[in-house]
Amino acid sequence: MSSKVYFAPARATRWDYSASQAAGLERLIEKVDFGSAIGEGEYVAVKTHFGSWGAHRIVRPRFLRILADAVKAVGGKPFVCDTVRIKGWDYLEVANQNGINPQSVGCPVILADGIFGCDSIEVEAGPVLGHMPLATAIYDAPAMVVVSHCKGHIQAGYGGAIKNLAMGGAAGSHRSGEWQKARGHLHAATDASRVTRDPELCTLCLQCMHVCPLGAISEVDGELVVDDDKCWRCGRCERVCPEGAIRLDKRSMADFQTGLAEAAQAVLNTFEPGKVLYFDFALEVQPECDCMPVADVPVVQDQGILASTDVVAVEQATLDLINSSVPLPGSLAEERGIQAGQRILPEVLGVDGQLQVDAAAQIGLGHKVYELVSV
Ligand code: SF4
Ligand code: SF4
Repeated sequence: MSSKVYFAPARATRWDYSASQAAGLERLIEKVDFGSAIGEGEYVAVKTHFGSWGAHRIVRPRFLRILADAVKAVGGKPFVCDTVRIKGWDYLEVANQNGINPQSVGCPVILADGIFGCDSIEVEAGPVLGHMPLATAIYDAPAMVVVSHCKGHIQAGYGGAIKNLAMGGAAGSHRSGEWQKARGHLHAATDASRVTRDPELCTLCLQCMHVCPLGAISEVDGELVVDDDKCWRCGRCERVCPEGAIRLDKRSMADFQTGLAEAAQAVLNTFEPGKVLYFDFALEVQPECDCMPVADVPVVQDQGILASTDVVAVEQATLDLINSSVPLPGSLAEERGIQAGQRILPEVLGVDGQLQVDAAAQIGLGHKVYELVSV
């Protein structure tokens, strides 16, 4: 069995609005039929990623506006949302500075887990995770449009719709203060997981301290101190350390990727069938997550936008397009010596995001076989 994935290529071949990426998105919207997914008066979560102070390669507000207008056109009430990654007030200001605000997107822009990042409902997840702290505004929304900037990710190998649902659906913190009841649960191996540092390897470059979203790392008398109570177990400090000196006891790769699929499933279980639509933006495909402090140059040329009602199919099609593309000169792909014909993201990052798509298919979230239909 296969699922349809609609594709609006990035390449503009005529000097005409109809050849623009914006017009392509409008054609995709017609194909996935908002009218059948969204009822009159229904609140609709338009879930995206707001980026960071230094990561500007997000889904542009222009596209969010088109999607929000399409929701309104069928009688829905859209709100653009993400969950807290840094302190909530600051994160809304990041969104604003990246151009995402009510004026630009034409609807409310909110944090689905609240300004303090601790509004969540614990929902059941699969055997790896057991439970998942789902942001309440997503839990309560009867319909959702999942708008994903598709790129690499150091830990997951790929970040698209599955990761947007999973990590992006999880609340940043919990009012009890227990990180195990928030997003850190998806990263850390056990309840005892904590950040440790090897002073023999550490050069005190302080990159870990600067990347920590919570100020949980500080320098005291030439030593680094990690505040376990503040730490969300997000793993960013480990990802940026050039010496391998700071470590979070994380889930194994297999468990992490399966956990992403399980968390995505836990989110989707709160929606009636047919109420979630997916738009994958394979544009500005940089090698890292949008929550990091920088956005590197893209590793492949812009591919376009893909849309489907099947999360597995749209993710498989997006990964196939990216991984079979040609590495861009001047990018990390060229720096790592990747050649045309090699699978780009796994070769660049050393982690294969296909694992999360396979896991999602395995637990019945959709079909890996797809029919790509250009619009
Ligand atoms: S990033 Fe690594 S080397 Fe730099 S201060 Fe942190 S632990 Fe030390
Ligand atoms: S895992 Fe590292 S970066 Fe993340 S909150 Fe804890 S100390 Fe900060």
